[in-house]
Amino acid sequence: MTNRESSITELPATTGPVLQSGDTGYEAEIAGFQTAYTHRPAAVVAAAHAEDVRAAVEYAARHGLPVAVQATGHGLSVAAEGGVLINTSRMTDIRIDAASRTARVAAGVQAGQLIDAAAAHGLAPLNGSSPSVGVVGYTLGGGVGLLAREFGYAADHVRAIEMVTADGRLRRLEPGDELFGAVLGTGGNFGVVTALEIELMPVTTVYGGQLQFDTRYVPQALEAWRLWTSDVPDELTSAISMITLPDIPQVPEHLRGRYTATISIAFTGSQAEGERLVAPLRAAADRMADDLRGMPYVDTHEIHRDPPHPHPYTATNALLSELPAEATDAFLEVTGPESTVPVVAGFRHLGGALRRRGPAEIAVDHRAAEYLGRAISLPGPHSDAAVRDRLDLVRKTLQPWTVGHNLNFLYGGGSWADEAQTREGYSAATYDRLAALKSSYDPHNLFRFNRNIRPRRG
Ligand SMILES: Cc1cc2nc3c(=O)[nH]c(=O)nc-3n(C[C@H](O)[C@H](O)[C@H](O)COP(=O)(O)OP(=O)(O)OC[C@H]3O[C@@H](n4cnc5c(N)ncnc54)[C@H](O)[C@@H]3O)c2cc1C
Repeated sequence: MTNRESSITELPATTGPVLQSGDTGYEAEIAGFQTAYTHRPAAVVAAAHAEDVRAAVEYAARHGLPVAVQATGHGLSVAAEGGVLINTSRMTDIRIDAASRTARVAAGVQAGQLIDAAAAHGLAPLNGSSPSVGVVGYTLGGGVGLLAREFGYAADHVRAIEMVTADGRLRRLEPGDELFGAVLGTGGNFGVVTALEIELMPVTTVYGGQLQFDTRYVPQALEAWRLWTSDVPDELTSAISMITLPDIPQVPEHLRGRYTATISIAFTGSQAEGERLVAPLRAAADRMADDLRGMPYVDTHEIHRDPPHPHPYTATNALLSELPAEATDAFLEVTGPESTVPVVAGFRHLGGALRRRGPAEIAVDHRAAEYLGRAISLPGPHSDAAVRDRLDLVRKTLQPWTVGHNLNFLYGGGSWADEAQTREGYSAATYDRLAALKSSYDPHNLFRFNRNIRPRRG
């Protein structure tokens, strides 16, 4: 923190509270889902509405203070030391226009809140696996959803962006505006979004859930899933994850310490067609659990069953052009029970509509990827260095098939959120275009606590 940042004498004029380190409530205001590290701003603005965001950015720019933004803390990358943090979690307004199948979603809305609101109109958003992730942060990172292969990235379905830029202006951006395509895919690099207008899909039910396989069947289950994904319709999106279940009270006693594979499925066709499609997976090996069924869209958080509680995690990922057996065999070796650091590791099936760019030229690249390989560290006594070494090894293992990285699924601070990592999220041409726009719209890099695109010098 520089002297200037640490000596805040005037505070922004906002309706929501503004707290400084040491104030009652400061710690609660900065806390987020990621607990490995935390923003520690000189002041945190608990924004109540868009005008608070505008006032906070304008104030920060005037005082030369950098700005961080947090809705839930799921995607914290570069933690602020000093500066101003805008906490958007109170901005939970949702307006649905059923006729145009769109929603206007304020900056603090979580996926689960939008799922419930949209379901009341027979609609569904293109949300991801966890109901507690922020809609805006997820969408600004691209957004690989439960129905990704059918509908593409969530960011491909944004109609308008309301955001405050570094000059303190609240703008409305639409497809065709220079900034519109730059904002989608780059997190908070170009400003603080106050609301998004997004498309909703006419989906009320899905066929889905989980198939779970015990230790001895993990390789068989993975091989069956790998072969099966080469020939499923785009209406079916699935993932497989392998984990040695931790010895914690949230895991049923008989499962603690067991290495398992779980296949998660979401299909928008009929239940009968779903049953027919999953038959080869069911036939692959004995199942420990099988809850595949028709379910209302509001229950789809049960498809991945992401952990709901804040915890520390670091993760790497690789977008893959293909998934040969050679890749899955090598992946199991470095992520399995013998791994020096326990990880949740697996693949999501991409392709389908994710390959197609929408009409707006947004900053979501590497569309040729057919799979996403991931490994996420589990909490434990191992050192940061040990975690990073293991995740580096996972990356290296998948390198021959890697076409890039997905920034939404990259968790970790420090060198894991540096320029080199960020660049790998984009093609070289896109990164150059983004850096040029950053120089015009945020030349002093006010918005730097993110997977940062540095403004070009000179
Ligand atoms: C359990 C879990 C499950 C996940 N599942 C999926 C998934 O299925 N698909 C997928 O694609 N991703 C998924 N993610 C990744 C997630 O989409 C990103 O971490 C995303 O950045 C989280 O956004 P947030 O607002 O919840 O988090 P925050 O930590 O609050 O924000 C993360 C970043 O988003 C940006 N941001 C947030 N709000 C604003 C704003 N108003 N204006 C400008 N920038 C903003 C900022 O750069 C901020 O640093 C998952 C993450 C977790 C932890």
